[in-house]
Amino acid sequence: MIIDILTLFPESFSYLGESILKRAQESGIIKINIIDIRQFSSDKHKKCDDYPFGGGAGMLMTVQPIYDAVQSVLSERAKIIFASPSGEKLSPTLAQDLSKEEHLIFICGHYEGVDQRVIDLLKPKEISIGDYVLTGGELPTMVIIDCLSRFIDGVISRDSLNEESFSSNNLEYPQYTRPQVFMGLQVPEVLVSGNHQEVEKWRREKSRQITNERRPDLNKEE
Ligand code: SAM
Repeated sequence: MIIDILTLFPESFSYLGESILKRAQESGIIKINIIDIRQFSSDKHKKCDDYPFGGGAGMLMTVQPIYDAVQSVLSERAKIIFASPSGEKLSPTLAQDLSKEEHLIFICGHYEGVDQRVIDLLKPKEISIGDYVLTGGELPTMVIIDCLSRFIDGVISRDSLNEESFSSNNLEYPQYTRPQVFMGLQVPEVLVSGNHQEVEKWRREKSRQITNERRPDLNKEE
């Protein structure tokens, strides 16, 4: 998958070059390009924001540099995404659908957002990462990319995906690793018993219990 990220703040994206996403890029599963929108500005000072018509707080990103930056990477199969509080809420299903695309172009808004003509002309899929407002689209874009990448074959193991929170309308069970005792706290006996059936049963029960306590809404149809 090719992922093009259009941003005024290219240096924000070092996280994508670490750990699992680093390996996914090294093995050629994902190719991520970070594109500085500012280089496309036709303004002699490379300005990319301006005051909103009609007044109001803050600055808006102007349409021209974003439009031209998108044209520079556009392909026939590209899907354009704009992280926005007004978009569809990110979910495992949406992330999984996006993971099947060949080419994604992310536009990162900043300041008070973007001129509406970015949306009207480029018709991006708008995606929200939650009902709160961040200062820019850089973090939401990284959240969306991280989340969808986990569904691409070869990025993480299938088992990890199947047992994860939300994969079956449940939250995950508690997990432990070495040492077996720390500050007097013991790992539950069943997990070191070697009895796989009992381990599975314990995990299912814990998972159900935690989900009922914290997120009963996840299982409300049952
Ligand atoms: N004025 C906008 C509003 O009220 O909806 C908020 C603009 S926000 C300060 C700047 C940019 O951050 C947005 O254009 C968007 O790209 C990004 N952003 C902020 N919160 C977000 C969220 N919850 N989900 C996705 N993107 C978000």
